[in-house]
Amino acid sequence: MPCSLWPPIKKEEYKGVWVYLEREGDRLKDVGLELLGKARDLAQKLGGAEVGGVIVAGTEEMAREAIYHGADKVVIIDNPELKIYTPKEYAEAIATVVQKYKPEIFLIGATKRGRELAAYIANTLTTGITADCTALEIDPKTRDLMQIRPTFGGTQLATIKTPQRRPQMASVRPGVFPKPPRDTNRTGEIIIEKVEVTRKTRLISVEKRLEKDVADLPPVESADVVVAGGRGLGSADGFKLLIELAKLLGGTVGASLMAVRAGWAPHTRQIGQTGKTIRPRLYIAVGISGAIQHLMGILEAKTIVAINPDPHAPIMENADYAVVGDYKQIIPLLIEEIKRLKNQQ
Ligand SMILES: Cc1cc2nc3c(=O)[nH]c(=O)nc-3n(C[C@H](O)[C@H](O)[C@H](O)COP(=O)(O)OP(=O)(O)OC[C@H]3O[C@@H](n4cnc5c(N)ncnc54)[C@H](O)[C@@H]3O)c2cc1C
Repeated sequence: MPCSLWPPIKKEEYKGVWVYLEREGDRLKDVGLELLGKARDLAQKLGGAEVGGVIVAGTEEMAREAIYHGADKVVIIDNPELKIYTPKEYAEAIATVVQKYKPEIFLIGATKRGRELAAYIANTLTTGITADCTALEIDPKTRDLMQIRPTFGGTQLATIKTPQRRPQMASVRPGVFPKPPRDTNRTGEIIIEKVEVTRKTRLISVEKRLEKDVADLPPVESADVVVAGGRGLGSADGFKLLIELAKLLGGTVGASLMAVRAGWAPHTRQIGQTGKTIRPRLYIAVGISGAIQHLMGILEAKTIVAINPDPHAPIMENADYAVVGDYKQIIPLLIEEIKRLKNQQ
């Protein structure tokens, strides 16, 4: 049942199947293109409805890519302030476009950002949202979208409908639907919409997370050498030195809870009680104080090296080698020395 406070809508005004096309740098994420394929299928079942796409701060090249994958119409939200993702402003801009074009179905890729946006957008549009659908069908009698998803721990499938509100919104995880073939003969309309948003978030700085930089490094639990960073690194940039050292030693990088909380490292790299337990031959703790919860994750490490300006930090008395000093001076020296030794071999 819709909320009694929600404004009434005229269902017949809503037409077409639209998709939010998430950007990743200067390209579209595959999940948006996958959803365009599904949108075409649903549009056909609705008697040839239009398939649309929305890109925030995208380019005409991206819009053409969406057309090659099945869109008839793509709206590019033109607002330089939206180059960098912030959830409330993105949701407001997308909801403004959806309100204007009134699709009857609006699909979103259930990525980290997509999930976050979907809830904001549904709330702004006063409609429902079914998260993580694994199948989407059209009810032949009512023309409603049947939003199908696993429930009760995956033991059953639930079919959810939004019979009284529009658009009908669903999110779908990447890889659930196949990406349609790229057809460069397809043509469509590209519309540039200037959309103003109320700034609720002020972007002070952007800190790059480690995720991409460490993607090709082994996981902490299987590496022979782990170089881990903590709050003492001062910023995400500090991890670049650690990555360089870890690569030279044929190892990987880990992090303390505080470094993960600061957003400098992904949770998969966290070592300790609420992170991973590791058994490396060599563990190098950099800018980590050695709280008991962290030490619990490295009890089985064969050799522990700690680099810390505080000689009384608990990690120092738990280390086989305690190096007192600033990592910014010590790690470059270590890197230099290892390179020199490697060149001699
Ligand atoms: C239930 C529970 C579960 C927890 N689980 C975990 C867990 O799984 N893993 C975990 O790590 N923590 C965990 N914690 C948190 C833990 O108690 C500590 O708060 C955390 O480990 C501290 O992280 P840190 O060492 O990076 O930061 P801090 O304690 O702030 O230490 C930073 C260190 O950096 C040093 N430093 C400063 N500048 C430099 C420099 N230039 N060069 C080198 N060193 C420098 C400082 O001297 C200091 O020793 C948990 C806590 C609780 C309550």
